[in-house]
Amino acid sequence: MSNFLKEITLLYVEDSRAIREILGKRLEKKVKKIIVAVDGEDGLEKYKEYKPDIILTDVTMPKMSGIEMSREIKEIDKDMPIIILSAHNDASYLLEAIELGISGYLLKPVDRDKMIEQLESQAKIICLDKTNKEQQLKIEEQQTILQTIINVEQNINFVTNFNQISFVNSAFLRFFNISTIAEFEDKFKTVESIFMEHEDYVHTGIIGSCNKDSDNTCFGKLLFNKIEELDETKRIVLMMDSSMEPKSFYLNISIIDESKHIYLIALTDITKMTIEKVNTEHKAYYDGLTGVFNRNKLEDFFKQELLRVKRYKHPLSVAILDIDHFKSFNDTHGHLIGDEVLIMLAQLVDGKVRSTDMFARWGGEEFVIIFVETTIDEASKTSNHIRKHIEQLEHKTAGKVTASFGVTQYKEGDTLTSLFKRCDDALYVAKDNGRNRVEIK
Ligand code: GH3
Ligand code: MG
Ligand code: MG
Repeated sequence: MSNFLKEITLLYVEDSRAIREILGKRLEKKVKKIIVAVDGEDGLEKYKEYKPDIILTDVTMPKMSGIEMSREIKEIDKDMPIIILSAHNDASYLLEAIELGISGYLLKPVDRDKMIEQLESQAKIICLDKTNKEQQLKIEEQQTILQTIINVEQNINFVTNFNQISFVNSAFLRFFNISTIAEFEDKFKTVESIFMEHEDYVHTGIIGSCNKDSDNTCFGKLLFNKIEELDETKRIVLMMDSSMEPKSFYLNISIIDESKHIYLIALTDITKMTIEKVNTEHKAYYDGLTGVFNRNKLEDFFKQELLRVKRYKHPLSVAILDIDHFKSFNDTHGHLIGDEVLIMLAQLVDGKVRSTDMFARWGGEEFVIIFVETTIDEASKTSNHIRKHIEQLEHKTAGKVTASFGVTQYKEGDTLTSLFKRCDDALYVAKDNGRNRVEIK
């Protein structure tokens, strides 16, 4: 048995010098420290001075009785353990002692073993209580440290089973512009409703597919499984911030308790990166001046189409469109006006080609149309139709503009180069034959 008394500071209050000396000596060996007082008043003072762990006191004493002293002490600390030593004729105080919440009562003459036993059990309570409090403090301290670390994080973190949220960091509160979890629950009906439906985002299709009445862990499970399956770059969700701005987040889920389906959700704002990615993709595929597809996109498209053409033997035709005398146009009206005409023409043709076809700026004042599942005759007809529309164009200062077309059809064994060479030859013939016309080869 561990010796709890050895951890204890005891205040012993006894007016009888003889008893005090005998018991005092005995007690001194048992406890860590003993403080002795000679009456209630002295006891109260020494209690205040030494803050003992346990008080052992006689009842009938001059100046201030043990009961009065106990009452004063209990007012300062109602949990202070006090054991009363009293003679038979002090029994009338017993009721008051009980009311005061005295921890123990020993009759005089004192059975020393009983006294030690009582003190020992009080000491045990105090020591265990102290250890618990220390452990509790340690846990609280660790939680504070953890919360501080997590609050410093820019990432949104929260712990949830997708029915309730049990922990959030300050980035979470900031994002939703709230100050407590209760406020969040008022604002959102369900945890998953923070995610917005959008075809590019991972949670799409999961929301609404779960019946919460039959399985309230469904959403969490589905989302977790989906995230596990997906490539890291695809783990993106969409959320609205408090000012209804859509924001993209990289989603990470860790299991905290598998049986209870409790997860730690971490969300990293990648809105800026997503916008940059879209911009980069845009730059890679669109012509900066006219806004139509560029040569890059055209080549990618052509490669795809070539596979289909070879496989299904469908016809495929190509037209190169070149603005007539554009050099002198620039020389007369200036490069900026030239640019405006390029934009006008590109936008016009873009609106005339079928959505399955492809129209792109090849470079300079040359454009290409890829006619999918189209023979050379049909492509030539459409080209002529477009040519006439270009003829109708009129720039407010520079006036009219025309274009020539060279058209060809894919033949077995053609590459991009051989196909475009033939097309270019046809264009050359169109130029040679007076421009503003369509030639085929
Ligand atoms: P042709 O009828 O034989 O095609 O004569 P052209 O002058 O159009 O042909 P050429 O190839 O000699 O000149 C093409 C001109 O297109 C040269 C250049 O000034 C102009 N050009 C090319 N790209 C741009 C552009 O982005 N903006 C402007 N404004 N002009 C451009
Ligand atoms: Mg040219
Ligand atoms: Mg030209």
